[in-house]
This record gives sequence, C-alpha cells and structure tokens, in this order.
Amino acid sequence: MTTVGVLALQGGVREHERLLESLGVGVAPLRTPSDLTGPDGLRVDGVVLPGGESSTIDRLLRTFGLFEPLRAAIAGGLPTLGTCAGLVLLARRVLDPAPGQQSLAVLDVTVRRNAFGPQVDSAETDLATAYGSARVAFIRAPMVAAQGTGVQVLARRGDAVVAVRQGAITGIAFHPELTGEPLFHRRLLDDVEGRVQAA
Ligand code: GLN
Repeated sequence: MTTVGVLALQGGVREHERLLESLGVGVAPLRTPSDLTGPDGLRVDGVVLPGGESSTIDRLLRTFGLFEPLRAAIAGGLPTLGTCAGLVLLARRVLDPAPGQQSLAVLDVTVRRNAFGPQVDSAETDLATAYGSARVAFIRAPMVAAQGTGVQVLARRGDAVVAVRQGAITGIAFHPELTGEPLFHRRLLDDVEGRVQAA
C-alpha cells in the first residue's frame, strides 16, 4: 500500500491526513528521523509539508534531527507537496525570514512570506490552475517572487505566482486541504505512482 508521510511537528496536519485517507492511501505522521527512514530505506512513498508557521516548523525540524534526512530524501526524488508554510520550507531562498530561519532549499524559488498582507487578507477562492479550477484557502500566504528556469508555474493569484512544480516537488501558497480540494494531493499520488513504475 502506498504510504504518504505528513510532517507533523506543527500546523494543519490533520486536514492533510483526512484528505489523503479519503484518497485511499496510508498516512504516516513524521516527527523523527526513524519515522522517515528505516533499516530498509525510506518508510514513505511521498511526503506532505503542511501549513503552519514556517520558522517554527524549521526550528522543530532541526530540534528533532529531521531537517537533514528530510532534505536529502526530497532532493533524492521523494515526491513532495508543500502547502503555504510548507512552500516556504521548500524554497531555496526566503526573502524575509524570521531570525535564524532556514529552509530546505530543494525547490529553486525565492518566496516572500505573508505576501498578501495580514490575516485579514485570508480568503477562500476558486483558483485557475494548470490542473483545472481549484477551491482553496489563502491564509497569511506566501508568494513566489522569483523562480529558476526549471520551475513550472501552476497558478497565479493576480500577478503573483502561487503554485509551482519542479520535478516531483510541488509548492503551493494556499490550502486545498481546508476546502477538501483533492486536485494537488491526487497529483502527488500520480508522482508517487510514476516513481514506483520508474524504479
Ligand atoms: N505565514 C506563515 C509562514 O510564513 C505561513 C502561513 C500558513 O501556512 N498558512 O510560515
């Protein structure tokens, strides 16, 4: 059975777990290095980095010793979906980090945190994406301020890039899990399937 790991250190974990379960895959919370890797290699076929507070998740990743194993797994091709703070964690460069904030630097983008203003700018909206129309929520969302040539833009909100993909890594600035929108999680499972067939 396919198992998707959901980083479960802080933030909106449960909603991702529910959505993945509704798509018929196994779900494993990731908190420690041994949740990610066992004696036979990776324990999960894909990973979701949820929204929350990226600087807190970063700090906890390092506290729990999961930062480097997760970075290496994603850089090694583990299909990954990062939402909101998860996108910030994936980014090569964060324009306005919290003091000491680091990122996994596996996705060739520069992100600006809280790019749409404070909490009042949070909104549920129908977004046109490369995968079709998606009902999603923006909550203190980041935007992609710049992206490398190998990065595909999947969606914009106004002029701002809010969804990108590079290889099997997808980063989105919004929350499909809060509206139950399965489009991006289905694509993650397609990427998992593609990787299994290529192996
Ligand atoms: N503003 C948060 C951050 O920079 C992200 C918000 C969210 O994940 N909904 O980490």
